[in-house]
Amino acid sequence: MAYERTELPRAQIEAQEAVAHRIAARFAAEGRRPLALVDTYGCQQNESDSERIRGYLAEMGCGFTDDEFAADIIVVNTCAVREHAEQRVLGNVGALNHTKKAKPGQIIALCGCMVQQPHMAERVKRSYPIVNLVFGPHELWRFPELLERVLNERRRVFAVAGSEGTVTEGIPRRRDGQVKAWLSVMYGCNNFCTYCVVPYVRGRERSRRPEEILAEARELVAAGYRDITLLGQNVNSYGKDLGSGTDFAELLYRLNDIPGDWVLRFMTSHPKDATEKLFRAMAECEHCAHHLHLPVQAGSDRVLRAMNRGYTAAEYLEKVALARQYMPDLVLTTDIIVGFPGETAEEFEETLRLVETVGYDSMFTFLYSPRVGTVAAGLPDPRPKADKQRSFERLVALATDISSQRHAAYVGRTLEALAESYDASADWPLTARTRNGRLVHCKGGAALVGQFVPVRITGSTSWSLFGETV
Ligand code: SAH
Ligand code: SF4
Repeated sequence: MAYERTELPRAQIEAQEAVAHRIAARFAAEGRRPLALVDTYGCQQNESDSERIRGYLAEMGCGFTDDEFAADIIVVNTCAVREHAEQRVLGNVGALNHTKKAKPGQIIALCGCMVQQPHMAERVKRSYPIVNLVFGPHELWRFPELLERVLNERRRVFAVAGSEGTVTEGIPRRRDGQVKAWLSVMYGCNNFCTYCVVPYVRGRERSRRPEEILAEARELVAAGYRDITLLGQNVNSYGKDLGSGTDFAELLYRLNDIPGDWVLRFMTSHPKDATEKLFRAMAECEHCAHHLHLPVQAGSDRVLRAMNRGYTAAEYLEKVALARQYMPDLVLTTDIIVGFPGETAEEFEETLRLVETVGYDSMFTFLYSPRVGTVAAGLPDPRPKADKQRSFERLVALATDISSQRHAAYVGRTLEALAESYDASADWPLTARTRNGRLVHCKGGAALVGQFVPVRITGSTSWSLFGETV
């Protein structure tokens, strides 16, 4: 694929920050401090993007609220991966009619993957007149300029042109937490799995330079963050576009050199690009969690081929075995799609068998959802919905069973876990995560948040563990 990696000059982001400051001055001159609400749907990359939108909003002098009626600016950061996510967004945007009526000056913006699809941008234009501003993921970097246009011109602004995407550095960021942080290492996807909309809305794979990533990670550790998750649609293709020789495994080694008590996670790994070198790096880097999110999607080779996944079930199982050789304590999670067009009842049984063979610690299961413009949306799909639903329920039951068993095996052990948050009103007030990524609800005090503490596991469910700090 001929694609030239482009990095946006820093001066462009500085120009956007200048616009943000001009907006702040204007609000100050009007004697007001507008309140903003950013509502996020979908994946961690969207959560990370929302932190950048909040960063810009803070530079515009905005405060923040959770109350839609109090908000002067509402930004809805949308997802397009399944129809369900889109319906939720559209339902909630429809409900904003009430807030806008109560507060006619309210500015409503939609951004993210859903509106990057031309048919959706068109639908918002036609059917949701309350929406003032629409911008896709490629235009996020110029949010201040777009918002200023809405303020100045008092007309609707749509910035959703298609693009292969750029790498943007230096956008201000207001992080959600103080213990856990997202760190994007690359954007976009080149894989074109036949069911998936991501490559159409997020552009081509492009990596951030390792120096930028290392500098951000060092800053995070110095600021007290203890849990850093590297983000990318397929982190295993990190660096291929850089031509500098740094691949993902090498990036892990370089990050691992940052001293301190902190844990390094990443997602998502595409099985076709997961290598022995990666498993070795995970095993050798002491900061690196032994957790691999390795979406298999299906257990039938025919379906995997139709999905354009680039591996067979046997190849997948070989990689899992190899990863477990390097990391006997590996936590393995996955994503599975039930009801891909043409998947037969027998082919679905192959998924169940694969799931049993692997024994995942936890699984994210999805019913196939046709996406406009993808190859799979044009395939014959004869299996009745009710059949697919029954298969889906069987898979969920199996997944719950396996996770419950795997979690039960932790009971009685003492593990180190990072305390992430505290809620005094909860029976198990402390939420913690083991180094390898299992959620633990704990008894323990608020002062432990941000620390690694030994936790004796006393109970478990299919989703989490329970324990006491010792
Ligand atoms: N880049 C990541 C995740 C992408 S989306 C990866 O490749 O693993 C997250 C998950 O949503 C996918 O792993 C897949 O299981 C699911 N998904 C994507 N498109 C879907 C669709 N059209 N219908 C149902 N599930 C889908
Ligand atoms: Fe979608 Fe496949 Fe890319 Fe993941 S790897 S984002 S599933 S196209």
